[in-house]
Amino acid sequence: MHPFTITKASDTTEALEAGGRGGRYIAGGTTLVDLMRETVERPDVLVDITALPLHDVDRTEDGGLRIGALVRMAEAAAHPAIRDSYPVISQALELSASAQLRNMATIGGNMMQRTRCTYFRDVTADCNKREPGTGCAALNGFNRSHAILGTSDQCVATHPSDLAVALAALEASVHLMAPDKGRRTIPITDFLLQPGSTPDREQALQPGELITSVEIPALPRPLKSGYLKVRDRQSYEFALTSAAVALHIRGGTILDAKVAAGGVGTVPWKLPAVEQALIGEHPSARLWHKAAGHAAEGTHPLRHNGFKVELLKRTVEQQLRTVGGTS
Ligand code: SF4
Repeated sequence: MHPFTITKASDTTEALEAGGRGGRYIAGGTTLVDLMRETVERPDVLVDITALPLHDVDRTEDGGLRIGALVRMAEAAAHPAIRDSYPVISQALELSASAQLRNMATIGGNMMQRTRCTYFRDVTADCNKREPGTGCAALNGFNRSHAILGTSDQCVATHPSDLAVALAALEASVHLMAPDKGRRTIPITDFLLQPGSTPDREQALQPGELITSVEIPALPRPLKSGYLKVRDRQSYEFALTSAAVALHIRGGTILDAKVAAGGVGTVPWKLPAVEQALIGEHPSARLWHKAAGHAAEGTHPLRHNGFKVELLKRTVEQQLRTVGGTS
């Protein structure tokens, strides 16, 4: 492991000062420490931020929900306000990682999760994300688990987070604070970056910026939602495909639909064509099938992952049926 120093920030000011000098923030450490052990990540200075006051889940004035960056995944999954209002988030969290990891990992850290591409974690393989300009071993290698949406000729790795798929579906935002204490808020779909020609840059963060919370906007009620994850085994595995669905149905008509997919994109993949096909329609098995057919628009399968195209459509259709029923 590369040698490093670690300092514990006692408050936000101290943390931001250390972050502004190039320190890497660490809380649960469930991704970063793994990557440091494998020498994929080699930070010189870590800044422990666990003492910062970012541990709360609060209702916003307009009826949305703000989840502090240091709320643990397990805490968020069990929180009554999240379970009651946004089951899609609780379910996505409960289907992530292992119970041990969920007890350690934080919501902010989840937004900073790095890809599970095996070549990224193998320091002997060419990887533009780990070392820009070296190439992409996955393009001509074994790419069964890789992305079919949002890829570039530089990188085809999927985004690993289940939570981010649920948040993208609900059009959540990420709150950030800079070393000069400047604050800004970015939609999660802009916060997480597609690889393009700079796959090493995965989040729209400026140097030293700190995630303080994620916010789910107020959404129309009643809202039924849920998350489906399809994977090779039933626990501690990343998604081959997943679908986050939230539907606002009143008087037998779908008034609003929010749908995103995971396991298929280089970022959580919002599905506006599916949403548009649902809004204004009446729930039915035929509608779920027809709308889900739009899920695979724009896909570019690689040599080993063509099966994901059909699997994605079926995953979305299944989850529309689960959330929306058929009558
Ligand atoms: Fe690296 Fe991305 Fe290629 Fe994987 S897909 S080897 S992460 S550049």
